[in-house]
Amino acid sequence: MRECFELRDVDAGGRIGELTVPRADVTVETPALLPVINPNLDTISPRRLAEEFGAEILITNSYIIYGTEDVREAALEDGLHELLDFPGAIMTDSGSFQLAEYGEIDVTTEEILDFQYRIGSDIATPVDIPTPPDVSREQAERELEITQERLEIADGVDTGEMLVNAPVQGSTYPDLREDAGRHAAGTDLDVFPVGAVVPLMNDYRYDDMIDAVAGAKRGLGSDAPVHLFGAGHPMMFALAVAMGCDLFDSAAYALYARDDRYLTVRGTRHLEDLDYMPCSCPVCVAHSPDELRELPDREREEELAAHNLHVTFEEIRRIKQAIRAGNLLELVEQRARAHPTMLDGYRTLLDHADQLEGSDPVSKGAFFYTSHESARRPEVLRHHQRLDRLSVPDSLFLTEGDSDSERYDESWRVQPPFGPFPRALSKSYPLTAEVPDRTDRGALEAAADGVARLVGCNPETEFALGHRGWPTDVLERIPDDVELVDLFGEDG
Ligand SMILES: [Zn+2]
Repeated sequence: MRECFELRDVDAGGRIGELTVPRADVTVETPALLPVINPNLDTISPRRLAEEFGAEILITNSYIIYGTEDVREAALEDGLHELLDFPGAIMTDSGSFQLAEYGEIDVTTEEILDFQYRIGSDIATPVDIPTPPDVSREQAERELEITQERLEIADGVDTGEMLVNAPVQGSTYPDLREDAGRHAAGTDLDVFPVGAVVPLMNDYRYDDMIDAVAGAKRGLGSDAPVHLFGAGHPMMFALAVAMGCDLFDSAAYALYARDDRYLTVRGTRHLEDLDYMPCSCPVCVAHSPDELRELPDREREEELAAHNLHVTFEEIRRIKQAIRAGNLLELVEQRARAHPTMLDGYRTLLDHADQLEGSDPVSKGAFFYTSHESARRPEVLRHHQRLDRLSVPDSLFLTEGDSDSERYDESWRVQPPFGPFPRALSKSYPLTAEVPDRTDRGALEAAADGVARLVGCNPETEFALGHRGWPTDVLERIPDDVELVDLFGEDG
């Protein structure tokens, strides 16, 4: 276990955790949002972030502080907490992005960590190489090697109570992300940002983002706190949390407000296009769209930034409640309907169902089947794996109907999407699932695969399947020696 991080609750890959930040003497509950503060232009003051929005942690850029003389002097003199007037934890970014964009700067890892220590950072970041997506494998490997050398140097620096980030790079190569994660987890560093995913999110490549995070998570293991670096749009938080991200940072709330963009959990709207306020935060209750549009620039920006923050923190709370209630994946399914690229992200998440299955609780409140993607959830996968271990009699009738066959030793229920199970398990999760009466193809195919798996594991047993009018090509998934009984056909 990493000393600074403890898990409290888990659902799918998502978790509620506690990040202890000793230098700030603060415990941050995760998933958490770190609003990004630019010390040169604060749209919403850090004090207000803490008191009105409940921010427990924020992030600011040490490179900007370093480069602005009066701010630098004040930070060195009084410390960041005093300078920003913020009672929670403060993370500092090294500014790797700026360094990558504007060219190399001649500072060592020791110097950059020392500067962050001296300005009073609670969680510091070494300068890594944020390798962009789609570069050649050679470049990704070469740059990862430099990042790893710097993490090893950072690991050797005495930083007292200050925690240190260990960024995980590797571009769009999931196996490199995994190697990077394993290497980072092997250091004594504390928090693990998955880096350089901003270009993926800017291009709505949520599928590639999920693959990158999944790779990093495989290497990092479950006890590492993971920061999806640069992710600030509430639309994708549920998806990223379900893959195992714990920290997000939002510059979006302020940047979007600056050009009249209004965040919602279903995407971004432009203030110009709003006829109604689809939100009940204090800003939206107090203003009509026209009233907001008529405000002077500076005030409008502040009001929009406040709305953007309200929506963002609200989504974090909703996600935590979903983890507690065990219905995080239902929330992800809803969010996936907001944009086709989000749906790609969700489908990619389900490609990693085996990985999620490792942390998903065996029992939860309820499983709601709300889309054909539900058929690929980790609970279905786990049930199929469990079929291998169930003992069966010499002859077995698997049926969607009642247990009335006298020809067989036993009769088991069949329920899409899970497939077959002994009737004694009917009341145990996830077989208590709420499934729509109008079943879809995804559920039938998954159920057929369950039947096929059970049959495959028990070659000595004689099987029959009673189904309610399954289509021919779904039935083709069932091994040939299983006798098929169409229950609809029988009843007429
Ligand atoms: Zn609002």
